[in-house]
Amino acid sequence: MTGTYHIWTIGCQMNEADSRHLASQLEALGFVETRKADDADIAVLNTCVVRQQPEDKAVRKLTGLGGVKKSRPGMIIALMGCMVGKREAEGLLKTFPFVDVFMAPSQTDCLIDFILRHDAYSHLDRAQTELADYRLPAVNRDKAVTAFVPITLGCSHACSYCIIPYRRGPDRSRKPDEILGEVRALAEQGVKEVNLLGQIVDRYGFDLEEGINLAWLLKEVAKTEGLLRIRFLTSHPAYMDDELIRAVAETDKVCPYFEIPFQAGSDRILKSMRRGYTQAEYRQIISNIRSILPDASINTDVIVGYPGETEADFLETVKLTEDLRLDMHHIAKYSPRPRTLSFKMKDDVSAEEKERRRVLLDEVVRRINVEKNEGLLGQTVEVLVEEFQEKKNRWRGRTSHNKLVFFEAEGDCLGKLMNIKIDWAGPFSMIGTAE
Ligand code: SAH
Repeated sequence: MTGTYHIWTIGCQMNEADSRHLASQLEALGFVETRKADDADIAVLNTCVVRQQPEDKAVRKLTGLGGVKKSRPGMIIALMGCMVGKREAEGLLKTFPFVDVFMAPSQTDCLIDFILRHDAYSHLDRAQTELADYRLPAVNRDKAVTAFVPITLGCSHACSYCIIPYRRGPDRSRKPDEILGEVRALAEQGVKEVNLLGQIVDRYGFDLEEGINLAWLLKEVAKTEGLLRIRFLTSHPAYMDDELIRAVAETDKVCPYFEIPFQAGSDRILKSMRRGYTQAEYRQIISNIRSILPDASINTDVIVGYPGETEADFLETVKLTEDLRLDMHHIAKYSPRPRTLSFKMKDDVSAEEKERRRVLLDEVVRRINVEKNEGLLGQTVEVLVEEFQEKKNRWRGRTSHNKLVFFEAEGDCLGKLMNIKIDWAGPFSMIGTAE
């Protein structure tokens, strides 16, 4: 054993993918995972700054590690992800001088370079990391049913509120061969479901040869032996075309599932957000999806309390939510982020009012979810089993529509497709019996 590592991860699936990839690189060098960052020879924090709250969490965690390092000066501390971004490292070094390595999102090689230059580890060989299993550290390797595969990195859209373009850089597509090779390697290791990731995933291929787009890629990925399910996220309404919807409908392994944030219902707010569509256009996209794939499951993100959002604007968000009856909603309270366009606008919806709007919208969403999930009572759904929850002695899996289902069963169900009869339905999960 070379030493121990710990990676603390917060934020989106892209961060999750980067952390798994870094873990597999570190393991290829002989490092072994340890459960606590405080005990690790190499402690990595993979951070998110999309809202103030995750940023605050990372700062607290990092400050704590700074204290630990005083008693263990040999420890290597690496800061990774959107807190670092493309050009924030210098400022961060002043605030956190004990950090050894700063890594922009997906730039895991910086840490590997640092380790190889470090006296304690100079006997290690970079070639070892080239053998690293794709994005699957050993702790996950024998039980990972799902995996994340980034296909486009960065984002160029510049929604007024969003910090991601400033931290992840402009969008660019990964080469198809690289992606397909990675998916094959994951499937060979037993992975049954891949989630293809991008900030605007449906822009995939815009910078590649003619004919290479997400619809094409989905069909290619579907040829992977052993793979049962494919998902992709996140889509932007402006790029969701019928070719893509048809590819989802025609390709068995691709789940009938879309993540398409609407963010707000009011056209005035959508315009200020620079989202690039109106409420009517968003409704049209949902109707296109439903005309091609009537039972498609659709997930959305919503922001409440954006600068200047009046009660009337908010009620348009509520109305859109009630009318569309989508399947999942991620509701966030607006959080001003440095360098974004809306940062210059007055954050004029009070914290209490943001919370009131969040709770109100959440109640609407729960009601829709329960009504929709109760429709499945007594029915049998196909679940891909992802995990055994020791404490509760039950299995956890998801339907192809991305609905969470729990059930009890003897024997090893991990990674299997099981038929589950739904006995109980709540707003965010269901419980059933194996048939
Ligand atoms: N590229 C994806 C994901 C962006 S981040 C997309 O376009 O949807 C995920 C979600 O965080 C966003 O959809 C948005 O709802 C939320 N979000 C982003 N910036 C935010 C901010 N400043 N305040 C509150 N929520 C924010």
